Amino acid sequence: MKAALYPGTFDPVTNGHIDIAVRASRIFPKVIAVVAENPAKEPLFSADERVELAKESFKEVPQIEVIKYSGLLVNCLREYNASVLIRGLRALSDFEYEFQMAFTNRNLLASCETVFLMPSAKYTYLSSTMVKQIAQLKGDITAFVPDCVRLKIEEKYRKI
Ligand code: ADP
Repeated sequence: MKAALYPGTFDPVTNGHIDIAVRASRIFPKVIAVVAENPAKEPLFSADERVELAKESFKEVPQIEVIKYSGLLVNCLREYNASVLIRGLRALSDFEYEFQMAFTNRNLLASCETVFLMPSAKYTYLSSTMVKQIAQLKGDITAFVPDCVRLKIEEKYRKI
């Protein structure tokens, strides 16, 4: 079985992302976390910072690799001779966007399959956006992100 790609902005990685990566690594022999540059989203962290944090955060996840990618996901699949995309599905609100993405990717590459995994219930309402908002208002994010991420966010907001 080939590698599965786990794409995202990862701005920054949360415990929800880690939960999904662990689940994916139990199913696929290799998981490649693809950090999308995504300038349109105006990320808080640069792509290189997000890659570094993802590497640190995912280091306990077996068989995972982290890469940065700025092109079309289907081209990334081709480069890695892969066909599976992993996405996390939280609340129903994720569904519409994910549905559109999955069909668009399949239209661009017929062999592309998107596999949706559900996180542990405690991460269902967790998002990078929420974590950043809490941190910006000096709230405690210890329960939501690994320590390396918490320290970097706190450092970032001290400078802003
Ligand atoms: P994107 O900008 O592509 O949505 P994100 O970094 O926000 O990138 O998310 C990457 C993937 O991880 C998405 O499939 C998203 O649904 C999933 N994800 C993010 N947070 C969680 C969470 N708390 N639980 C499960 N999946 C999550």
